Parts: sequence; C-alpha cells; structure tokens
Amino acid sequence: MRAAVYQGPGEIAVEEVPKPDIESPDDAVIRVTHTAVCGSDLWFYRGDSDREAGSRVGHEPMGIVEEVGDDVTSVAPGDRVIAPFAISCGECEFCRQGLYTSCVEDESWGSEANGGGQGEYVKCPFADGTLVRVPDRYADDEDVLESLLPLTDVMGTGHHAAVSAGVGEGDTVVVVGDGAVGLCGVLAAQRLGAERIIAMGHHEDRLELATEFGATDTISARGDDAIERARDLTHGGANHVMECVGAASAMDSAIAIARPGGTVGYVGVPYGVEDGGLDVFTMFSDNITIRGGVAPVRAYAEELMADVLQGTLDPSPIFTKTVDLDGVPEGYAAMDDREAIKVLVKA
Ligand SMILES: [Zn+2]
Ligand SMILES: [Zn+2]
Repeated sequence: MRAAVYQGPGEIAVEEVPKPDIESPDDAVIRVTHTAVCGSDLWFYRGDSDREAGSRVGHEPMGIVEEVGDDVTSVAPGDRVIAPFAISCGECEFCRQGLYTSCVEDESWGSEANGGGQGEYVKCPFADGTLVRVPDRYADDEDVLESLLPLTDVMGTGHHAAVSAGVGEGDTVVVVGDGAVGLCGVLAAQRLGAERIIAMGHHEDRLELATEFGATDTISARGDDAIERARDLTHGGANHVMECVGAASAMDSAIAIARPGGTVGYVGVPYGVEDGGLDVFTMFSDNITIRGGVAPVRAYAEELMADVLQGTLDPSPIFTKTVDLDGVPEGYAAMDDREAIKVLVKA
C-alpha cells in the first residue's frame, strides 16, 4: 500500500509501505477514503518540532472498515467510520469522564504499528473506544462525508474552545485566529447561541469565510492594534475569548481582550510560551479564567455529527484545496504557503 512519509523538513514523500494487519482483538483495519492535512502537521514540516525521518504522517482519517479483531463490537467490515486525531480505549478513568486525549493507553496515529492517516490503510487499536460510525444512510453521501471529516479534529477543537470559554446564548465572543480551528470556532460559537462573534486574524479571505460562518465583526490587525480594536468593539473586553492559534502572542492577546471576570478558552498547541510565560498578573488582577487544552474531540463527535446530518452544521468550506494521495506533498506546500486553509485528501 502507499502512504505519506515524513523525510525531513519540507519533505513529504508518498511511498510503498507494508499494509497493516489485525494484531490484537481490539484492532480494526480501515481503508482510508478521505483524510486531511492539518495546521499542526506544519510544525514538523517547517522543522519547528522534532519528528523522526521515515515516520508516517496524518491523524484525521475517515474510511471503510475492512477487518476487525474478535473483540470489536461497535463497528463491522463495510461500516463507514471517522477516527478522531487521538486514539482512546474508551474504558480508562479519563476516557470515561470524556477526557479521551488523556487516555492511559497512549496510542497515536503515525506510529509504525498503526500508520498515519495520510495513507491507503490505517490500523486502529481500541476500535470500540476510538471509531465513530457514520449511519449507513449517509455512508456514501460525498457532501455529508466532507462535512463530517473536520469532526476528526478542527471542528471538535473549535467546539472545545467555545465550550471552554463558556460560550452560551446571547453572549459576545472574540475568536483569536482565522485558521481552520478559528473558523470552526466561529461555527461552534454560533451553534451555542452567541449573539456577537468577533473574528480576529490576518487574512482577508479567511475573515470573509468567518463572516459566512456567522462572525458579526472581523478584525484584521496584529498585536496591540488588534487588542485595542477588540476592546473598543466590546466596550472594555469580552466575557468569552477563544484562543485558536497557540502562539504566545495569541495567548497574550486573548488574555488582554478578556473582560474582568471573563474566560479564555484555549485550544491552540502552545508555541513559544516558554520564552515569556503567561501574563499571570493581568489574569490575577482581573480574575480571568483560563480553561481548555488539547480537545477531546471524541467526546463531541456524536453531538456534532447529529447537527451535520440534520443540515445545521457544515464546516466543509474550510477545505479550499483537494488532492489525491499522490498530491499530499503538494497539499503540505499549499498549506505552508497559506494558499490553502485546509487540504482535503481523497485517497
Ligand atoms: Zn489535525
Ligand atoms: Zn482510555
């Protein structure tokens, strides 16, 4: 079978690799039909984070179950499934409280045993605790499938930002970041009933999409200018701020934009924060709460899927470029150059 393999910074190749087999009774083998390139894939692609050369990449697979181990009961061969970016056993203390990303089994996509999501097949360990089945009625509906794929990561992550920020009916929210997660965060905030959604970013085309997704205001500025505009628009800060970037500067902006007593929901993977640290003094003075972290998207999959299937949620416009498996290297380059918001891979 063929799969995308990381060769080194800026280099992804599609290579022949061994096809995975069932090794444990909890495993399922999935033929990947759709997957995606993620903003978080760019860290190793840019050499900003370490990754072993030769490792398989991708963590957002959707496909058809080909084979299952003897103990798997929730899915069967032929079922259409999506797989969250984190593998979870479904039974440990943390999985049972919905914190699937802290699963004690510590399995992940991209290992040699499981394979990465950007390939023809993956092996899913703990299939019952990880995979989410798409109802048969929608299993071949291409439009629905493209709307469901972001539930493997960015839509669930945007939702986690909104939930962590405490967004509810009638609220005013500022969303920091206009990448795929920020845009999905706008959708999530609207879905939770926010009345005013201020999207903040640097790219006109992405902010336009934010408006289509329900943003009532947009701010295209950086640093102190952006903070000042957000504070003006909210008359002194927002009660709910969603940090959807991860860079230290975005976290600082989010804290600066929060209204006294407000909450920042953060989901961006922290980057560069170790250099300066958080502005704890502002948080202390203004009783600002910070909540969030890596999104347990498995916990939100059913709820979000229900809305996609009933036609009230559609994050698929974040896919602005589609490639086949051979086009995965081109997909990384397009995201790296910011030509594409997010790349859909049809295997
Ligand atoms: Zn991802
Ligand atoms: Zn677990």
